[in-house]
Amino acid sequence: MEDGRCRVEALECKECRARYALEARFVCDNCFGPLEVVYDFSGLDAAETRRKIQAGPQSIWRYVDFLPFERQPQTALAAGMTPLIRADRLAERLGIGEVWIKNDAANPTHSFKDRVVTVAMAKARELGYEVVACASTGNLANSVAAHAAAAGLESYVFIPADLEEQKVLATGVYGTHLVAVNGSYDDVNRLCTELSFERDWAFVNVNVRPYYSEGSKTLGYEIAEQLGWELPDRVVVPIASGSLFTKIARGFEEWLEVGLIEGEVPVMNGAQADGCSPVARAFADDKPVCKPVRPDTIAKSLAIGDPADGPYALELARRTGGTIDAVSDEEIRQGIKLLAETTGVFTETAGGVTTAVLKRLAERGDIGPEERVVAVITGEGLKTLDAVRGSFETYEIEPRVSSFTETVEGSPVAA
Ligand SMILES: *Cc1c(COP(=O)(O)O)cnc(C)c1O
Ligand SMILES: [Zn+2]
Repeated sequence: MEDGRCRVEALECKECRARYALEARFVCDNCFGPLEVVYDFSGLDAAETRRKIQAGPQSIWRYVDFLPFERQPQTALAAGMTPLIRADRLAERLGIGEVWIKNDAANPTHSFKDRVVTVAMAKARELGYEVVACASTGNLANSVAAHAAAAGLESYVFIPADLEEQKVLATGVYGTHLVAVNGSYDDVNRLCTELSFERDWAFVNVNVRPYYSEGSKTLGYEIAEQLGWELPDRVVVPIASGSLFTKIARGFEEWLEVGLIEGEVPVMNGAQADGCSPVARAFADDKPVCKPVRPDTIAKSLAIGDPADGPYALELARRTGGTIDAVSDEEIRQGIKLLAETTGVFTETAGGVTTAVLKRLAERGDIGPEERVVAVITGEGLKTLDAVRGSFETYEIEPRVSSFTETVEGSPVAA
């Protein structure tokens, strides 16, 4: 871009490699395979690119050379540059060497979805759309409604009717058209796919999905940059559609190709909930992801029974020597508490899934003593409060010192 060259080449089918122009299109006409953005990074100078990134904005736009734009779009709400925290107390509890928490709850609407929405919406505007929409498991709803409000675009947000109240409230407040659908996320997604053929709207995760998923690469870039331009040895990532999981690795691969970092792609561990684990089950059975499952889990943000990027997530876990594990709702609750008690980070159920899988890997002896591990925490605990209800006790006292002494300090719990 600096040298006036555009690195974004085309949309390409992930199956048959047919190429298409950079428009609002998401499936291949030949084989119905999914499309993704392809680039030509040849000739990109590593030292110059690194300087440009370091001098760039404190948001995902510092990585604009690796995103599907010819020049940096103007966006009202920024996303990215969230904290990467060294979690020594968590590592100690798990009996492993080095753990880092990438806290993506620290985004404008408190989940990693602000990354994908920022990119999808900027592309939608560039393509001339005036209305944006999405099919959401919760966090995408918050994000699309907020970014549309900031940009002054009309928006339609489709959610399953049984979504957590916190996520419903944190969406409606932005003044979107909020549509609760009596059905699962997969029903919502099917409805939105049909609507995308009938309405001239940009559905961020349907007809502009190839651009949307590019936003997740920035999590990989940030982890490497924040580790001092180094790769971790292992990354633990939650899986819903599998897009985030695969695109974090893609981010690492691109930077290895350009020479911004050295080494090899980390071991990639995917995390799902037992109540919706089509990819983990396929991994365990050493089979392809086939039959859609009907989700039943407290990790609603991961409740996709028919994951679009499931096959690619499986391939990535196998190729990097990783795994895809699934954990129970009880382990998810314990994962939320473990993270909170050892790091001060309160995550939603999806982060409980990630932490519980990290614990599982440690207990199974999968993690070597010298390994540097990053756990990707994708959302905020205040959005799924029911998951921690009843998980601790509160002292109730009268407003007197004696009452405090007796009830609190005299209590066996106080020791
Ligand atoms: C959407 C979401 C994910 C994973 O999304 P993919 O569809 O796999 O890209 C993970 N965590 C949270 C909190 C989410 O909202
Ligand atoms: Zn194809």
